[in-house]
Amino acid sequence: MSTEDTFHPLGEEWEGELEEMLDETEYDTELGLEMARDAMRVTKGELSDAEFHERYHEDVLEEFDVDDRPTEAAWEEAKEADDEGLIERLADVDTEQERREVMKKMGAGAAAVGLGAWGTADNMAGEPEEPASVAAAQEDDDDEGTQWGMAIDLEHCDGCLSCVVACSQENNLDMGVNWMYIFHYEDEDAGNDPKLMVRPCQHCSDAPCAKVCPTTARHVRNSDGLVLTDYDVCIGCRYCQVACPYGVNYFQWDEPDVPMADLDTDHVYDANGDWVDSRAPRGVMSKCTMCPTRQDGGFGDDNQGTTACEQACPPGIIHFGDLNDPESEPNQFLEEAREDPEKPSSFRLLQDVGTNPNVIYVGHEPGSNANQISAEEARDRGLATAVSYDQIGLVDNRKTGNDEHDGLDGGTIGGGLSP
Ligand code: SF4
Ligand code: SF4
Ligand code: SF4
Repeated sequence: MSTEDTFHPLGEEWEGELEEMLDETEYDTELGLEMARDAMRVTKGELSDAEFHERYHEDVLEEFDVDDRPTEAAWEEAKEADDEGLIERLADVDTEQERREVMKKMGAGAAAVGLGAWGTADNMAGEPEEPASVAAAQEDDDDEGTQWGMAIDLEHCDGCLSCVVACSQENNLDMGVNWMYIFHYEDEDAGNDPKLMVRPCQHCSDAPCAKVCPTTARHVRNSDGLVLTDYDVCIGCRYCQVACPYGVNYFQWDEPDVPMADLDTDHVYDANGDWVDSRAPRGVMSKCTMCPTRQDGGFGDDNQGTTACEQACPPGIIHFGDLNDPESEPNQFLEEAREDPEKPSSFRLLQDVGTNPNVIYVGHEPGSNANQISAEEARDRGLATAVSYDQIGLVDNRKTGNDEHDGLDGGTIGGGLSP
């Protein structure tokens, strides 16, 4: 297999940085790149999950001594062998420990089924969504339980970075680890006005990051579709970072600034008892979590169905809620936007990659000639409210290069928006 051609939507430079980053790890660089390439072929519908699993099973076992990746084939096999109602029981469990216990009883054929498979099974190989068909997709999603997600009103973002600060504070993130990120950019194809892109993890229903994770640390939570990282299970191989088309992952290189003893223990484990919230420990991957402690009721009923970034946003442009509920805040916002002839159509980032992201935007979609610019330049060019990361006392690793690992976290969001 060859990795000669660029496969990553974020482009050749980003892919090169990822390759260098993998070279620094103890794990196989070539395997990480090939799996990432093929995981995106799976989301595009060019390769099945079963083929993907089969293609890499031996190599993953050899490299990691474990292959817990989800596989549709194993799921089907388990279904055929299900003579004790174990499938139903398996679908009901959420914790890794429970899952393993049930699977032990299901035999070797089911051993490769991962928790993430169930969050994505219905969406696999789906056609990329047309911008105008967001409503239709929501209808399709009805009756499928909760699917947390966001609708973001790009037209009214003023670039104040309050969301970035709130996320950083709530999650005790190190300087330069910005789970929420605001891009200032220009788009030659859409006039001279500087623009803004608000970018958390997209919590993809068909998440390539979860497909490549050998340990299932990165998983799609069965109960509500959140894409989370079990910090206790992650071995820090960074394959998820390579396979993410959006560049949202941060590796925790050093001991975190805020020690474990200072963390709010109610803001560490989710309702399943898995360590998926707040900042990651050393040697582990992190990214925006969509605030599972809040969604699990850990911060009280009033904060369920909210996120820290949403609450901190002065113009209220982040609408968080259950995308499967037609009455939820994001769906109501989208409905109003659809009915307003003055509003641009909604879109999801990198729809052609087929990841089924659960963040939906209303506003300008970055075109192929979009380029990131600094906050200062955005201000000079008329975006008076644009605030730089320096101004709010945060580090912008993705732009300023003032971190020794900048090359590894650098880059941008794709969809035509390049560094
Ligand atoms: S945006 Fe989030 S869920 Fe989607 S591939 Fe990247 S890390 Fe995974
Ligand atoms: S870095 Fe952790 S979460 Fe990511 S693929 Fe490796 S084990 Fe999974
Ligand atoms: S949803 Fe939660 S974790 Fe994600 S950017 Fe907002 S505050 Fe941070």
